[in-house]
Formats: sequence, structure tokens, C-alpha cells
Amino acid sequence: MSISLQNISKNYGSQKALDNINFSIEKGQIVGFLGPNGAGKSTTMKIINGYLNPDAGEVQVNNVSVAENPMSTKAMIGYLPEHNPLYLDMYIKEYLLFCAKVHKVSKASVKIIIDKVGLKPEISKRIKELSKGYRQRVGLAAAMLHNPEVLILDEPTTGLDPNQLVEIRNLIKEVGKDKTVLFSTHIMQEVEAICDRVIILNKGKIVADRLMDELKGKNLEEMFRSLTN
Ligand code: ADP
Repeated sequence: MSISLQNISKNYGSQKALDNINFSIEKGQIVGFLGPNGAGKSTTMKIINGYLNPDAGEVQVNNVSVAENPMSTKAMIGYLPEHNPLYLDMYIKEYLLFCAKVHKVSKASVKIIIDKVGLKPEISKRIKELSKGYRQRVGLAAAMLHNPEVLILDEPTTGLDPNQLVEIRNLIKEVGKDKTVLFSTHIMQEVEAICDRVIILNKGKIVADRLMDELKGKNLEEMFRSLTN
């Protein structure tokens, strides 16, 4: 399995964020991660990345324990956090070269990723001069520079205009062809358009885990509302 979570629980003080979460994602799947705000999606993603430790349970990435080998599992994951933190004063290439150094990958990989995510038309700009759609492309480029097998994308399309939204969605679909992708979103059509599977979280518990093929002809939005309202 590319990603495996077993009996994961997490509290922030007295706030229960995750309550015994279990799921596995096989190699190559694109999984939409849905849930109301506060359901625990970001917490789950941070735990898979090794940025947060769970209070209980075990996470494995490519059958390697995140708790025991955090450096090796981090190297297998590309993570685009919510709100996409970037160094705004840097030029695109300057920033990606910096990320390449951090990941110890060659300068050549920066050129390849710039082509892949379609940053060429804006390449002479500083990050602060870019539209939100292009900033998301920079975030995706940074997440994919080291060619990770697993992509964890926390609300990658939130705040984009309809054209940017379709462009980034297509990009996720394209790069997802040879990766395992877990991404969170509030847009049901997005899940229907690009996912193989949907996992719905509510109040720290999984309330649905279904293949999209099983949901053909069903209304995902209605299902979401009945499970989370
Ligand atoms: P989602 O990504 O689905 O919106 P989160 O994982 O961000 O959900 O949050 C799950 C719950 O944990 C919420 O009740 C949230 O308020 C709480 N929470 C998240 N981060 C923290 C934190 N750093 N400290 C305290 N509570 C937190």
C-alpha cells in the first residue's frame, strides 16, 4: 500500500480531532478527501507527512513506518499545505532552486518541473506578482521536485477562479497518472471529475469510503450532506 493508517487518533488538548481513523490507499489511486471544516482533514494529512505525531495508531508510507523512519517517508511524499506558504519576494526559479537544494536534487529537475506544471509563461516574475492559480502551480512544483510517489494536497483549488480551477484540476489529474494522490476539497464536482475514490470525514471519524464507480448515478453532494449534517 502507498499509504496506510491504522487506528489513528489525535487530540489537541481536550479537542478530539481524529478518533480511530483507518484507511489504506493503493499505488496509483487519486483519492478525494471530503469533510466539513474542522472534520480533521488537515490533521490527517499532517500526520501522514510526519509533521504531527498521532496520539495513537500507526502510519505507513510504502510500507515504511512514519514514526520509525520519518526522513525516508518524507522523501516519498510531496506535500502542498493549505494556504500554500511561499517566499513571495523570490523569483519562481530562485525559489525552486532553493527547494531543489533542500531536497538535494539536481538543477535539471527544476527545469523539468517548470515545464511540467506550466510555469514557463510567468517564469520571469517574482512569486508575489503571480495570480493565485500560478502560485498554486509553484506550490505543486515545489511539492513534486523530488519526484515523490505520493502527493498530499490540502485544498489545492480553494480560492481559484473558475478557469484556474479547471487548469489546476487538470494538472492534478495529469500528474496523478503515475502517483498516489490524496487531496482535500470542498468541491464535489472536482471529486467526480478526477478521483477514483472518495473518503468522507466528519468530526474526526470516517463516515464514507467508496470507489467512485460504486457511486455512479448517485448524488455525492446529497450523500455528503446526509452524512455530515
Ligand atoms: P479540517 O482540515 O477538516 O478543517 P482540522 O484538521 O484543521 O480540520 O481540525 C480538526 C479539529 O482540530 C478542529 O476542531 C480544529 O479546530 C482542531 N485543531 C486543528 N489544529 C489545531 C491546533 N493546532 N490546536 C488546537 N486545535 C486544533
